[in-house]
Amino acid sequence: MTEKTIFSKIIDREIPADIVYEDEVALAFKDLNPQAPVHLLIIPKKAIASANDITSADREIIGHLHWVAAQIAERDGFAADGYRTVMNCNDNGGQTVYHIHLHLLAGKAFGWPPY
Ligand code: IMP
Repeated sequence: MTEKTIFSKIIDREIPADIVYEDEVALAFKDLNPQAPVHLLIIPKKAIASANDITSADREIIGHLHWVAAQIAERDGFAADGYRTVMNCNDNGGQTVYHIHLHLLAGKAFGWPPY
C-alpha cells in the first residue's frame, strides 16, 4: 500500500486543517500558504493521485468538486465578483501533493495568462 498523502491525513483527521465544507464526497479547507485573499483546496475523499489518474468512474466526483466550488462561492459571497479554479498536474503543472485537488482562489482580480 502506498503511503497516505497529507490530504488523506486531513480527511482522516490525523492532522488539523481549517475545514470550510464537507459532504459525503468532498472536503474543502484553507490552503496553508494562501496565494489570494481566499485560497481553498477542494478534494475528493477518494484518493485519486492526479488528473492523469481520473477514470471514467470518477467523472461524477470531479464534476462534484466544481459544484462544491460554486456552492462555496455563493455561500461566501464572491460568486458575482468571480473566482478562479485551478487543478495542477505533475511537475510542469506545479503539482506538489498527489491527492487530486481543486484550488479555489478569490478576493482579487487575477491576471491571464498565468506567467
Ligand atoms: P499543488 O501545488 O497544486 O499540489 O497544491 C498543493 C497545495 O497544498 C499548496 O498550495 C500548499 O500550500 C497546500 N498545502 C500543503 N500542505 C497543506 C496542509 O497541510 N494544509 C493546507 N494546505 C496545504
